[in-house]
Amino acid sequence: MNRVRLVIFNAALGPLDYRVPETMQVEPGSVVVAPLGPRQIIGIVWEPERLPATEVPDSKLRPLLGKLPVPPLKAELRRLIEWTADYYCAPLASVARMVLASGGALKGPATMTEYRLTDKQPDRMTPQREKALDALQGEQATMRELAELAGVSVGVLRGLVGQGVLEPVEVDCDRPYPRAHPAHDAPDLSDSQHEAAQRFITAMRKGGFAPFLLDGVTGSGKTEVYFEAIAEALTSDRQVLVLLPEIALTEAFLRRFENRFGSAPVVWHSSLKSTERRRAWRAIATPPAQGGAQVVVGARSALFLPYAALGLIVVDEAHEISFKQDEGVRYNARDVAVMRARFEKIPVVLASATPALESLQMAESGIYEKIDLASRFGGAQLPEIATIDLRETPPERGRWLAPPLVAEMTARLERGEQSLLFLNRRGYAPLTLCRHCGYRFQCPNCSAWLVEHRLSSRLACHHCGYETPPPPACPECGTEDCLVACGPGVERIADEVREVLPQARVALVTSDTLNSPEKAAEFVQLAEERLVDVIVGTQLVTKGFHFPELTLVGVVDADLGLEGGDLRAAERTYQQIAQVAGRAGRGSKPGEVLIQTRHPEASVIAALAAGDRDAFYTAETEARRHAGAPPFGRWAAIIVSSEDEAEARDAARAIGGSRPELPDVAVLGPAPAPMALLRGRYRYRLLINARRSAQVQTVIREWLGALDFPRGVRVGVDIDPYSF
Ligand code: ADP
Ligand code: ZN
Repeated sequence: MNRVRLVIFNAALGPLDYRVPETMQVEPGSVVVAPLGPRQIIGIVWEPERLPATEVPDSKLRPLLGKLPVPPLKAELRRLIEWTADYYCAPLASVARMVLASGGALKGPATMTEYRLTDKQPDRMTPQREKALDALQGEQATMRELAELAGVSVGVLRGLVGQGVLEPVEVDCDRPYPRAHPAHDAPDLSDSQHEAAQRFITAMRKGGFAPFLLDGVTGSGKTEVYFEAIAEALTSDRQVLVLLPEIALTEAFLRRFENRFGSAPVVWHSSLKSTERRRAWRAIATPPAQGGAQVVVGARSALFLPYAALGLIVVDEAHEISFKQDEGVRYNARDVAVMRARFEKIPVVLASATPALESLQMAESGIYEKIDLASRFGGAQLPEIATIDLRETPPERGRWLAPPLVAEMTARLERGEQSLLFLNRRGYAPLTLCRHCGYRFQCPNCSAWLVEHRLSSRLACHHCGYETPPPPACPECGTEDCLVACGPGVERIADEVREVLPQARVALVTSDTLNSPEKAAEFVQLAEERLVDVIVGTQLVTKGFHFPELTLVGVVDADLGLEGGDLRAAERTYQQIAQVAGRAGRGSKPGEVLIQTRHPEASVIAALAAGDRDAFYTAETEARRHAGAPPFGRWAAIIVSSEDEAEARDAARAIGGSRPELPDVAVLGPAPAPMALLRGRYRYRLLINARRSAQVQTVIREWLGALDFPRGVRVGVDIDPYSF
């Protein structure tokens, strides 16, 4: 009797046992199809002793139905799945699922059928067909994806295939990617770059887990350093994973990579087409020596792919908060990257100009090896940073740019240099109200104001995506044309620049305007060719870009991020401003940074202006130590939500009522979460502050495991939360 235990892709059920038919060979890691009730489910064969036991007798076991044609997941990856589930208090199934990256991508053969439009017209036009023809110009994807894209049913598209309006295209998902060449266009490294690269290379040759913190100021050439390590991996047929915080940055990175290695890497993120996804997945599971993927550049989800021969992980801009996933399995990709390297016994490089306090602490305690690049490459100087006290030199009424900043921008324009204005707020204005009755436009699904977007003439919720055209009259008092914008967003700042510098060519850079790789590439080209004088942008402009003629950075409102009770507000403000400041003076001309603030004395702002990073980190370290906050203590959150407000509150109270009484674990709440209503769900939250030594996950698991909740209630655990 051959009995196996599976981790199945159903978070509500634990592991299940099955019988292996005599004709089938499986081993731990095999990906199989199993019956579940009347349906089929995908599962991964696991070592039974590592999972809770099941009680079904041998005679009652149902047989496995089949095996997917992919290599078994390696033990290193299975250990990572277990660690992630354990550490983040998530179901094993939910983590395993991320590995198969929506399992559908795996079933079936390596060839898939996509469809595209031909020149033929349908014999009879219907509104649905017209909609499809409009939407699908230039598109090629699977039937299901096209239907979603066009907003029509698959049936409509089938009809068009029948008439030859859409034609099938066979896509081979096993065609290899172009090869990267280690020495294609290698630059001469500076001495300090060479020394840094050598340490990575030595660690790779030696083998074994080796975590590094590559701490180098903006423009110091960190990328070139880890490219050198990538070259070593290419030479020895090992794979490299480079994690980037933002898809918008990928385009510039890909071009740079291609210049250096002669071909683009494999890209992985959540908006790949299913054929691209399958092709990437299969290439990643194949060793480079057999034509598999060499270098993968991806968003955080790329961490959970089944690399056949991983040799190095790089987390670029490792301090970025977008590495933290806040839904589903709430993990921090930076930390999981280090664990993956540990299981794979390979080096991992966290690169940043403004490392997280946690990372610096790890370096201080000797767990990470810290490598410094103290100066900019090629003798470029770090920019001068000064503050503009908005209380002393306020902008004119209804404006947001203070006279000293405008004067500097004018000077740049006259000299033919570029300026960049940073404000981390999308849209035109963060709040819209009725001038007559003061009614504030609010999202129906979230506790958030609707943000006016003038470019798309919409009021939008930045949390759930709800959108509505601005109403002609106030819904409360009926006054017509009554809407007033309160406060600035980047669209409004761009308008102001056009008013005060009418000759300037302005580029607006936000996720609304740079919403595709093509648009991102277009912007980079315009800016590089100096066809842009002033760039106005959100956090999208703070990193990655390298424009040598950019000599002035203006921070429109440095106080914005310091508002609210966010634990990491100071650190985040410091990082954002230091990063955006790093865009100035990267070429031969020196850069200048002007920070508009009402609190120039605040320790973050003062440290930035003094160019004294250590002063900031020292002050922040003390504050965290005092508060028992990370890295000295632990935070965790339990988030309870339901569409029914009372149900959510009752469940949160039940959790609060059974809180454990432990000396090293303090529980705060429950209280309404900061986003008390999000996507139509009411949210309550409990915060846990524990000593570093406390087994906080075990405490939470036992605590929640003893409770039962109504069906409509979701209880999520957030270990090391970022925003609360
Ligand atoms: P960082 O990632 O630390 O911000 P980059 O790697 O982007 O720095 O380097 C900053 C600039 O200096 C880039 O334009 C890069 O091409 C250039 N650069 C860095 N190192 C070298 C080198 N060894 N040879 C030539 N150019 C270099
Ligand atoms: Zn909303």
